[in-house]
Amino acid sequence: MFIGHFGIGFGAKATAPGASLGSMFLASQFIDLLWPTLLLLGVERVNIVPGITKVTPLEFSHYPISHSLLAVLGWALLVAIIYQFLRRYPRGALVLGLAVVSHWMLDAIVHRPDLPLYPGSGYLVGFGLWSLLWGTILVELLIFGIGLGLYLRTTKPADRTGVWSLRALVVFLLVIYLGNLFGSPPPNITALAWVGQAQWLIILWGYWIDRHRFVVER
Ligand SMILES: [Zn+2]
Repeated sequence: MFIGHFGIGFGAKATAPGASLGSMFLASQFIDLLWPTLLLLGVERVNIVPGITKVTPLEFSHYPISHSLLAVLGWALLVAIIYQFLRRYPRGALVLGLAVVSHWMLDAIVHRPDLPLYPGSGYLVGFGLWSLLWGTILVELLIFGIGLGLYLRTTKPADRTGVWSLRALVVFLLVIYLGNLFGSPPPNITALAWVGQAQWLIILWGYWIDRHRFVVER
């Protein structure tokens, strides 16, 4: 799951318009932002196994800190508490916490049964939509489209940058997504992890867009 998580980020802005789009992206993609660092530190593990699913060649063999349900609930709480401390916006804090949890829920739809309930849990969750290429694309595009639609209803551009920065991001995310789907598998784990780290730029992009768009009064 990739653009589906960003779809949630876009849509979340409609629920708590006072929070920045960048914060929404940070929350909805939070555990995938932690994951590359944990890979580089050797704390979590993944294998590249071309053909293991129709969509991704990744076999998530060990990722209890970023992707076990219990840990994700902890990360959600932490994100909500830090946000509330910094911004004093309870609604924003609540929505951000839920967005962190949404990541695990969406991952559970597409992953093979590899998501632990808690670190060390033998019971692994995953409904395996990644066995269907077009099913996955359809579901992700749907979530992305609905989220983006809600975002476009909630905000309007304040200037030209507010138009182009958003359009460019949407195109960029779709291109990355297609590249992931139809491109060749990553050469090794280190390369995979550094591409993952580059996602922080998308978070910054979200903050940038947010500064050039205003919330529509309803
Ligand atoms: Zn994930």
